[in-house]
Amino acid sequence: MSESIVIAEMNDGKVSATTAELVSAALAYGSTPTLVIPCTTPSVADGEGYEGVTQVIACVASVFSSFDAAGWAEALDELTSEGSIFVSASPHSRDLAARLAARKGIPVVQDVIRIENGKFTSPVYSGKANQTVSVTGDAAISIRSNIFQGASPATMTCNVVDKSGQVSVAIKEMLNRANERLDVSEANIIISGGRGMGNPSNFSHLEEIADVLGAAVGASRAAVDTWDEIPHSMQVGQTGKTVNPNLYIAVGISGAIQHLAGMRSSKYIVAINKDAEAPIFQHADYGIVATWEEALPELSTHLQAMLG
Ligand SMILES: Cc1cc2nc3c(=O)[nH]c(=O)nc-3n(C[C@H](O)[C@H](O)[C@H](O)COP(=O)(O)OP(=O)(O)OC[C@H]3O[C@@H](n4cnc5c(N)ncnc54)[C@H](O)[C@@H]3O)c2cc1C
Repeated sequence: MSESIVIAEMNDGKVSATTAELVSAALAYGSTPTLVIPCTTPSVADGEGYEGVTQVIACVASVFSSFDAAGWAEALDELTSEGSIFVSASPHSRDLAARLAARKGIPVVQDVIRIENGKFTSPVYSGKANQTVSVTGDAAISIRSNIFQGASPATMTCNVVDKSGQVSVAIKEMLNRANERLDVSEANIIISGGRGMGNPSNFSHLEEIADVLGAAVGASRAAVDTWDEIPHSMQVGQTGKTVNPNLYIAVGISGAIQHLAGMRSSKYIVAINKDAEAPIFQHADYGIVATWEEALPELSTHLQAMLG
């Protein structure tokens, strides 16, 4: 069995649930993973551990207070010198995978959705096809979230490696993101709006439903490009974020191929569109042919009654 390094996915300084899926992926590759937790204080790693993991290392450095690909790669360089590296396919971690791969001179395989017989499968051409590759030697691999069943937690002791003061990048200032809502890349349920929402203030109707469901609010590129109030961080699609939630609700979104590229692998897709011929319906598990003005209040009332 080869050794591997799983770099924990961090969310606001805490280990994200996606990390358990990364451990499963490393085990599916037939490797024995070491879990590395990038943190500013070792207590973050308390209680972290999974079945199949050989050791847990808290890698401590101030650069981990915020994401900086160059600084993270520098801090993690030594710990990732041996074995394949598994990270999440979030935008940050894809960046990190590429940086670490470049430092080590190894291949990078991004956005993996299947590992079988030592081969990696990932979507290509906006999700229209899958490619399967095998690598010789070590690789840096990013894993799409919500695909692999998470490894079971286990009690483990944690070793601390302190990289403070050894990294040339220092974070001088950290600005909170403008939108304090749950990010689409972290959500199990997403409700997204497109140009069909008419104007940005109508996104408040999506937020209302998102609050009941515990969902994130996303957007199509047309919405992001048309309205300054809808930030690019909400954009789902080829030039936005790739998401893989259990439930994706597309409201007033036509279903262009570039939008589908970012969400077509969602477990359940619900589309609300006034045009019965809209392409999104070809990919939806459930479709409502109606204006959002008609459909959303109904949906909201029923959800409030069930969950509110
Ligand atoms: C290189 C490239 C990259 C791109 N990357 C992305 C990307 O990352 N993400 C992305 O989303 N797009 C991307 N696009 C743009 C993409 O091609 C589409 O233009 C875009 O997705 C359309 O957004 P939309 O569906 O919101 O708008 P539209 O195509 O204008 O569709 C609006 C929909 O709303 C419906 N509608 C209107 N009024 C109502 C109402 N009252 N109630 C219900 N439904 C209503 C209409 O029937 C229509 O289907 C990219 C394009 C290119 C060329």
